[in-house]
Amino acid sequence: MSQPRIVIVGGGFGGLAAAKALSRTPAEIILIDRTNHHLFQPLLYQVATSALTPSQIATPIRGILRKQKNTTVILGEVTGLDKDRKCVFVTDGDRENVPVAYDYLILATGASHSYFGHNEFAEFAPGLKSLADAEAARNKILQAFELAEAEEDPSRHRDLLTFILVGAGPTGVEMASALAILVRNTLKSDFRRIDPASARIVLVDMAPRVLGPFTEKLSKAAKQRLEKLGVEVRLGHSVDHIDADGIIVAGERIASKTVIWTAGVAPSPAGKWLNSQTDRAGRVRTQKDLTVPGHPEIFVVGDTASLDQNGKPLPGVAQVAMQGGRYAGKLIHSRIVGNPPPGPFSYFDKGSMAVVGKGFAVLQSWKVQMSGFGAWLSWAAIHLQFLATSSLRLSVFLQWVWTYVTGQRGDRLIVNHHGAEPVKPRAEVSVNVNVKPAFVGK
Ligand SMILES: Cc1cc2nc3c(=O)[nH]c(=O)nc-3n(C[C@H](O)[C@H](O)[C@H](O)COP(=O)(O)OP(=O)(O)OC[C@H]3O[C@@H](n4cnc5c(N)ncnc54)[C@H](O)[C@@H]3O)c2cc1C
Repeated sequence: MSQPRIVIVGGGFGGLAAAKALSRTPAEIILIDRTNHHLFQPLLYQVATSALTPSQIATPIRGILRKQKNTTVILGEVTGLDKDRKCVFVTDGDRENVPVAYDYLILATGASHSYFGHNEFAEFAPGLKSLADAEAARNKILQAFELAEAEEDPSRHRDLLTFILVGAGPTGVEMASALAILVRNTLKSDFRRIDPASARIVLVDMAPRVLGPFTEKLSKAAKQRLEKLGVEVRLGHSVDHIDADGIIVAGERIASKTVIWTAGVAPSPAGKWLNSQTDRAGRVRTQKDLTVPGHPEIFVVGDTASLDQNGKPLPGVAQVAMQGGRYAGKLIHSRIVGNPPPGPFSYFDKGSMAVVGKGFAVLQSWKVQMSGFGAWLSWAAIHLQFLATSSLRLSVFLQWVWTYVTGQRGDRLIVNHHGAEPVKPRAEVSVNVNVKPAFVGK
């Protein structure tokens, strides 16, 4: 008799946890992802701010599962599914919408950016979700300093060296503080005509405080820390407009060439593929066993799923995805081998943390609330623990120690030379023959 086939879509936190939970299941497992790597998204901002290299936060999925003989990894994009025929459609470099049949399906396709109905902002304010996003943000940030150094007219330096982050949740706060450290410490001796420390970093959010999910006390501590690092925190107003010259917030234009979107997330289109009930954000409403109503063979986990626990929706965080993926894997295993199924899914909240610059973090876990160096040590230990492989753990640990001691950062390369936005030549520029032009664009 042939073995049942389990298709997992997504090799992020949820999909990978599900695959690992199925390592001993007598089944054929096919994990499909549109990228070839598992990405540790919580450290994306460190790639964007040159602290870590892309390869320190991402690992080939194939490598992680190489010893798991029942699992095949396929690089391809799932474009839809047919619940009646029990298949997903996969497009790869070669073929389009190839049906891949399943007996069980786990959808763990995560989330993407949400511009809250202002998709036109995307062109000027890229988000931070993938490795490519983080590299693009790093290129943009480093390039701004290069442009300013090459610019003879000092009145243009301020716009070039103003960095705006829209969204003061954990990603915005972590990114703003890391950027502050980059400009005030790492880059301080690298330039001759500009002072990187003069860069303006503005963090904007419509919410009345930073780090909304944290307690008021921790949010206040984080804000104070940001301000100490020189970050301008502008709260209580949503951004009205974003264009190539900056943003308009509360009627005021803030001129900037580098705006990064660190606000909302939108789930993957899994809800549309399934044509099943979603919450207001578009996440698939699941039953307590993470299956889709009427389809006990389809599971949805992680950022793309919506489930309430104790009257509140579960948050879109890595732990929810990992625990959900593990649960779905165990439930499918028990069905296949005929064991009694586990009870309903129950998320165990281990707490939240956010780092605010060098040696400072905020942490809340149950009744414990901490801010400062102790919280930062816990943050570092926990993040190291959840990196995908021991080689990454060692590499990131050594890089952090090096950066902590020397202030030097790992990866300050601008790698998209040809992809860089061309800078429009300005007619009024008088060329100073003693200065070599900056190499920007093609
Ligand atoms: C910048 C940033 C910082 C964060 N910081 C934290 C933090 O500090 N702590 C925390 O707990 N959480 C954090 N999160 C949230 C956390 O990363 C997510 O909750 C978690 O990744 C969700 O896991 P997931 O498996 O649902 O999705 P993901 O981990 O996003 O994985 C989804 C996978 O599906 C693949 N995929 C998507 N669509 C398709 C398709 N159509 N076909 C094939 N493959 C597809 C993607 O390539 C990806 O590999 C952060 C997120 C971001 C973006």
